[in-house]
Amino acid sequence: MTVIAETLPDPQPENPLALLQAVFGYQQFRPGQLEIIEQIVAGRDALVLKPTGGGKSLCYQIPALLRPGLGVVVSPLISLMKDQVDTLRANGVAAVYINSALSREEMIQNFAAMRRGEIKLVYVSPERLLQHEFMDRLAELPLGLFAIDEAHCVSQWGHDFRPEYAALGRLKQWFPQVPVVALTATADEATRSDMLHRLELNDPFIHTASFDRPNIRYSLVEKFKAAEQLLRYVQSQKGNCGIVYCSSRNRVEEVAERLSRHGCKAAPYHAGLPLELRQRTQESFLKDDIEIVVATVAFGMGIDKPNVRFVVHYDIPKNIESYYQETGRAGRDGTPAEALLLYDPADIGRVRRLLDNIENPQQLQVEQYKLNVMAAFAEAQTCRRQVLLNYFGEYNDKPCGNCDICLDPPQSYDGTEDAQKALSCVWRVGQNFGVGYVVEVLRGSLNQRIKDHGHDKLSTYGIGKDQSHEYWMSVIRQLIHKGLLTQNITRNLVLQLTEAARPVLRGEMKLELAVPRLQPISSRKEKRNGLLDNANYDKRLFKELRALRKQIAEDEEVPPYVVFNDATLVEMAQLMPMTEEEMLAVNGVGHRKLERFGEAFMDLIIDYCRR
Ligand code: ADP
Ligand code: ZN
Repeated sequence: MTVIAETLPDPQPENPLALLQAVFGYQQFRPGQLEIIEQIVAGRDALVLKPTGGGKSLCYQIPALLRPGLGVVVSPLISLMKDQVDTLRANGVAAVYINSALSREEMIQNFAAMRRGEIKLVYVSPERLLQHEFMDRLAELPLGLFAIDEAHCVSQWGHDFRPEYAALGRLKQWFPQVPVVALTATADEATRSDMLHRLELNDPFIHTASFDRPNIRYSLVEKFKAAEQLLRYVQSQKGNCGIVYCSSRNRVEEVAERLSRHGCKAAPYHAGLPLELRQRTQESFLKDDIEIVVATVAFGMGIDKPNVRFVVHYDIPKNIESYYQETGRAGRDGTPAEALLLYDPADIGRVRRLLDNIENPQQLQVEQYKLNVMAAFAEAQTCRRQVLLNYFGEYNDKPCGNCDICLDPPQSYDGTEDAQKALSCVWRVGQNFGVGYVVEVLRGSLNQRIKDHGHDKLSTYGIGKDQSHEYWMSVIRQLIHKGLLTQNITRNLVLQLTEAARPVLRGEMKLELAVPRLQPISSRKEKRNGLLDNANYDKRLFKELRALRKQIAEDEEVPPYVVFNDATLVEMAQLMPMTEEEMLAVNGVGHRKLERFGEAFMDLIIDYCRR
């Protein structure tokens, strides 16, 4: 990539909407954007809380273009800076970044261009910004604004505190006249007031958007044979990009290896892998060469890939903030995406035991509370989105209609007989065996261990053979959950009856059980009404447009979405624009992109329609 802007900025419209349309190619603002932009253009400080994918970048990019002087953007990650700058430049905006990835010459060139007033936006890391040398250079330039991305990093209450962010308060002291806008996707009350305080914002305009991500479908399945469940799910997603989060490095490698063996374009990512390899994996993922990244939580911060169609949690996250943030990486382009959680109640116990290592009692309490909230989310029998948003202080009285609970409400049945079968089987094997073994006996498995114990002679042997392994696992889990069975931790988790089991075994009490949730709804119910699944666009043309985009992206050495994102291609496949005017009407096509890529896409569409 050439570092310096090759051209002087185009003459640009002077009002926000015209600029949005001409430069960024979008027809209208999303809720809140215009108001934020107007306030910043007028010189006011601002705090912007919007979920990932909410469109925060435009909230400072447009003011930077409208205000005189240079806009300085503080961003924590090098990869993020490069993406943002590539995207801006594809739209014809004079943007550069200054970081350790640049050579000395490139750095000098960029500074020179900044001094000549040719640059509208510069991206820089907090460490670099606060160096005296850099500050001195800035002091000589007219400045339009400071934007602080991922601003929650200034706060110790946030989940991602970065000491180098804490000193950013100095900006306001040194440049009291320059508006500062802080942006973040996650902030509870404590973090929010800490941000305002530390950044020394002066009477800021505060915008809080809904944290709802309506295009993400939240869905959960009971985890039984996780590896198989995942493989089936990923195969049902054929060709879509996704992230699979696992709780340990070993698990990451295992899962990635297995997916690759089955022909998926998957790669592992965790902090134990060499930096170079990690960077390569990330790049390939951005370019759609790798479709699935299997990762620990180390992956994701700063991944701005808009077309992640699914995020799977192979293991339960430690808290709901992480869950929200990780699932939030799906569907940034606003088209339908899915967040799938594979849930085994035993995982909660495992995470709980890990928390025991925390020495600080106060921190332990916070972590335990957060884990309990996560467990409650997984056990919820009501709309998952309501549970999630409620936690972030956003109360909704209507169920969402786009989560597994809403789409496929939990069903219960009279489980008395199933319970009796399972409980008496536990009794017959002498309360000496774990869940898996009891299920095998119930299903009449021809297993050597069962024969050795003579359990194939029991009256309960094979009384549950008409149901699957998963089915009985679920029944027993529910009996544990309801307190009729316990797992003895001191004795290899063998199942034992409790007092509460007695009335059910004797037939004195009925018991309601939930029908197990064994498959993600996406593979159960095909009805979807989102953009990408809408039959309303030409899927063959879409595929060809995608191939063309990939070709151009490779020639230009940028990720495909810098050319156009999926939502834009879907619209092209729908509207089939063949003239410049029609092309400009497509969301995501601005003047510069029309100039650079328009013809190639129009030619393809015209050719396609003739065929
Ligand atoms: P955030 O930084 O809040 O996570 P981004 O700024 O990366 O989100 O925006 C997410 C996506 O939404 C980007 O592809 C962006 O171009 C797009 N977007 C932002 N504002 C609009 C708009 N007004 N109309 C259409 N698309 C938009
Ligand atoms: Zn719902």
